[in-house]
Amino acid sequence: MKSYVFPGDIDPAIMAIGAEPIPYMRTQEFSDIVLESERLLLKLIGCKGGRTIIYTGSGTGAMSAVVENYITTKKKALVIDGGSFGHRWWDLCRYYGVEQIHYEVPFAKDIDYDDLEKTVAEGRPDVFLCQHHETSTGELFDLKRIGTICRKYDVSLVVDVISSFLAEELDMDALGIDIAVTSTQKGLNIPPGLSILFFSERLKDYPFAHHGYYWDFEENFSNLRRGQTPYSPATTLYLQLHARLKQLEAEGGPGKNIADVRHRCEVFRGLCRQYGWDVPAEVPSVAVTGFQTKDQNRTVFRGLIDQYDTFIMPGSVPGFYRVSHMGLQSDEDLRLLAERIHQFESSL
Ligand SMILES: *Cc1c(COP(=O)(O)O)cnc(C)c1O
Repeated sequence: MKSYVFPGDIDPAIMAIGAEPIPYMRTQEFSDIVLESERLLLKLIGCKGGRTIIYTGSGTGAMSAVVENYITTKKKALVIDGGSFGHRWWDLCRYYGVEQIHYEVPFAKDIDYDDLEKTVAEGRPDVFLCQHHETSTGELFDLKRIGTICRKYDVSLVVDVISSFLAEELDMDALGIDIAVTSTQKGLNIPPGLSILFFSERLKDYPFAHHGYYWDFEENFSNLRRGQTPYSPATTLYLQLHARLKQLEAEGGPGKNIADVRHRCEVFRGLCRQYGWDVPAEVPSVAVTGFQTKDQNRTVFRGLIDQYDTFIMPGSVPGFYRVSHMGLQSDEDLRLLAERIHQFESSL
C-alpha cells in the first residue's frame, strides 16, 4: 500500500511499536515519557514556559476543548472560515453559543488582510480563531500579519496548526499565539488518535471555564503536572509519539523535517506542471498539494485504489485532489503516482 493521505506512510520503527505489548500507564516510567514528550513538543513549536495537554481524541476533540474551556470565557470571537476546517471553528462557536464574526474567505484564496484589520477594528472581537493551513483547499494563511493585527487590537489568538506543525515554520511566541492545536496524524506522521494543545506562558493563571467534563482543562492540567492523564490514555500512541519526538530531537529540531516536506512538495508541484494540473491555492502550503484534474467522477481516486492500492484525497470540488507530503515518500514514488493519475485521467 502507498498512502498520500494522513498520516501517509510511517517509519517502520514507529509502526513496530504498535505491535508491542502495552505497558501499565500508572507508573513513574509512563509519567516520565509524558513529561519528556511535553518538553520536546514545547521546544518544537517555540512555546517557552508554556504547557501542553495531550488528549486521547482526534484534532476536533482538542478544538472542541478550546471552545468549551477558553472561547466561552470571551465576549466575541472572530472566525476565519476559508474551508471545511475554518467552518468547524464557526460551527463549534455556534454550538456553544459564542457570539462571533463569521469572516468568510473564498475557496483557496488568501485573506484580504487590510479588510480583515478593518473588520477587527470595527467589530472589536476579543478572541480570534483561524487555521494556519486550511487543509481542505491547501491555502496557507499569513500568521505574521494575523498576529500583528491581533496584537494591535489586543485580541487573543488561537490557531489550528494541525496540518502545518512540522511542515511549515512555526514559532508560537514570536507570532503571539495564545493557544495552538495539533494532532498526531499530520506533521508528526504517527497514527491518528492523539491531539495536542499548546498554551502560551501568558495563560498560566487564566480562569478557564468548565463546560465539558472529559476535556476540562484544569482537570487535565492537574494530572499532567505529574505526567498522568485523568482517564485511560491511548498508551501505545503515547509511546509512538515519544519515539517520534526523540527522532526529531536527534535531528536537531523541526528544520530537517520541514525541509523534507518542502522537497517532496517541490517534486510533486513540478509533476503537476508537467501534466497540466492547476494548483488553485493562492499561497499554497507545502504540507499538501491540492490540484485540479479533469476527472468528474472520482475515476482517478477509485482507479488508484483498485489497481495500485494507493490512496489520495478527493476534495470538495469535482476533479480536485489532494496529495499529502507529510508521510514518507521518495522522488520516484511521486513520479510514479503522477504517472498513474495521468493514466486514469487520460482514459476518461
Ligand atoms: C485534520 C485537521 C483537523 C482535525 O480533524 P480530525 O479528523 O478531528 O483529526 C482540524 N483542522 C485541520 C486544519 C486539519 O487538517
